[in-house]
Amino acid sequence: MADDEHANTENKKTEKKNTVFALSRASRCHACDKKLVRGDIVKLENSKDDTEALCRSCAQLDAYQLVGKGSAKITRLATKYSKVTYVVLQWSDTWKCYERVGILAEPQAVHQAEKESGKA
Ligand SMILES: [Zn+2]
Repeated sequence: MADDEHANTENKKTEKKNTVFALSRASRCHACDKKLVRGDIVKLENSKDDTEALCRSCAQLDAYQLVGKGSAKITRLATKYSKVTYVVLQWSDTWKCYERVGILAEPQAVHQAEKESGKA
């Protein structure tokens, strides 16, 4: 399973993108009923006819670190180093669309990215 298939291409976009959401309004976690405030990161899951929000701990995202969209270079490197990344989207009432606000990546990947971009 853990074959090293890291060719030097970044193009292996066959996996589906993981997407999570930063809340644009207060809500509650569907699983643990925790109160969630604007800006909290949740995973949305579609059930039969409803959308359920899961808080970071219920969605097992606690271990991941948010990289804001301002740090393009760190985002790119962290995406490269992290085995799993999530794109974080937030609904914009102004623009009536989802805006990308950052990514979630493994902390060590973010650390590595920061180290590397500091050196460059
Ligand atoms: Zn929860």
